Amino acid sequence: MGRKRDYVYHSYTRTMCPECMELIDGKIVYDDSGAYILRRCPVHGESLELLEEDANWHIHKGDYDKPGTASTCQTKVDKGCPYDCGLCPSHDQHTCIGLMEITRRCDMSCPTCFAEAGKGRDLDIETIGRMMDFYMESEDGKAEILQISGGEPTMHPEILKVIAMAKGKGFKYVMLNTNGLRLADDEEFAKALGTFKGGFEVYLQFDGLDDGIYRKMRGRPMLDVKKRAIANLGRYGVPTTLVCTVDKGINDSGIGQLLLYGMEEKYVRGVNFQPVAYFGRYSGERNRMTLSGVLKRIEEQTGGLLKMSDFMPLPCDVERVALTYLFKENGSFIPITRGKDMSQYRNLIGNTFVFTLEDTIKTLKDEDATFGLSDCCDLLVDIKRHIPKGFIFKSRENKMKFVDENTFRISVSSFVDAWNFDMKSIQKDCVHVITPDLRRMPFSAFNMVHRGRYDGYYL
Ligand code: SF4
Ligand code: SF4
Repeated sequence: MGRKRDYVYHSYTRTMCPECMELIDGKIVYDDSGAYILRRCPVHGESLELLEEDANWHIHKGDYDKPGTASTCQTKVDKGCPYDCGLCPSHDQHTCIGLMEITRRCDMSCPTCFAEAGKGRDLDIETIGRMMDFYMESEDGKAEILQISGGEPTMHPEILKVIAMAKGKGFKYVMLNTNGLRLADDEEFAKALGTFKGGFEVYLQFDGLDDGIYRKMRGRPMLDVKKRAIANLGRYGVPTTLVCTVDKGINDSGIGQLLLYGMEEKYVRGVNFQPVAYFGRYSGERNRMTLSGVLKRIEEQTGGLLKMSDFMPLPCDVERVALTYLFKENGSFIPITRGKDMSQYRNLIGNTFVFTLEDTIKTLKDEDATFGLSDCCDLLVDIKRHIPKGFIFKSRENKMKFVDENTFRISVSSFVDAWNFDMKSIQKDCVHVITPDLRRMPFSAFNMVHRGRYDGYYL
């Protein structure tokens, strides 16, 4: 590919030179082996980077696109994207998930760490409260999802207060990102998390079922820790999503096994896969794993249970997120998306789609409930088919139990770094880091170019 022009020129993009990080023109091109970004820097020459392993996925994901949601701006357009975060007026999506790093401290020092965490200090609770208020106000009082992150947020001495504060400020869904070390050994902590019933989840770093993977990606064996953390969380009914960083050649052959394991665990509500990005502490060999690469492996490794076509690009950010949602039928999980043209529902599907759905099922009072969406689509008829007779008479607790035991979500989120930089991907990014100086920065842009500016708050 490249000089011979044995590719199809799909579209123009603004990209950057991965060497000098100057913004330059680029082409998105494809052939049978995938979709790529091709560019020529006047100083550093031509470079080519894999964008998607499956060119078809790249070509057709736009079928799910819809207008972005307007939001407030904190900065002006000046140096050009991604140097003006943010949000600046060029950004095309509001904050679907606000991520807050409440500490840079961590009890691990993973070779694969986007946040370069380790030694550092915590933000004080007043600063964290101001950041939450800022996030809520910048979304006109309607911010819904807050992810508490780090470093390792469970090391913050006031972590339970931080979660309670987030709930008190009206965030509907609060997630706690963790490596699981504290949860494995501190049952009382898991018990305390169990009191945040409804709208609270643990996002547990979980890269596979083999200690060889953890040695390479996390610098130590961790499987036993992860399993003990899951057992403690299960003991107190804390919904948990497994978050797997996927690195080609290290753990991509264990994706199917990981999914099947997650489906067996009662309080594991789903798995989120994140292809490794080349920023932060990552210093391994560059061997690009992509979103569609993960989907291909899911299909290949789950023995017919899941197909690539069961996944849809998330309409909020078709470039970088894919998901499917499964219901249990006759003891086996079936994706509700199977065989449906989900693109026709794109205007009904927001980033909280899955949560809205689950919330409505948990509070279902009336056979004619509309699931907070619209009653006129086959999708909802299909979902209702999975709800057992007499369900509406069950207690809220039993409804929650039904959702926990009978549904499962799988998502893939990929990130933008200096090698695969594509302007649309970064400007549609809807996961934003909320910074201590009250800005919102798309997750990839923050990690690529802005993180260092905040060292003074954390180090
Ligand atoms: S990533 Fe978004 S907020 Fe940041 S400079 Fe680009 S358009 Fe502006
Ligand atoms: S990846 Fe997570 S657990 Fe590992 S060093 Fe970074 S913050 Fe800590």
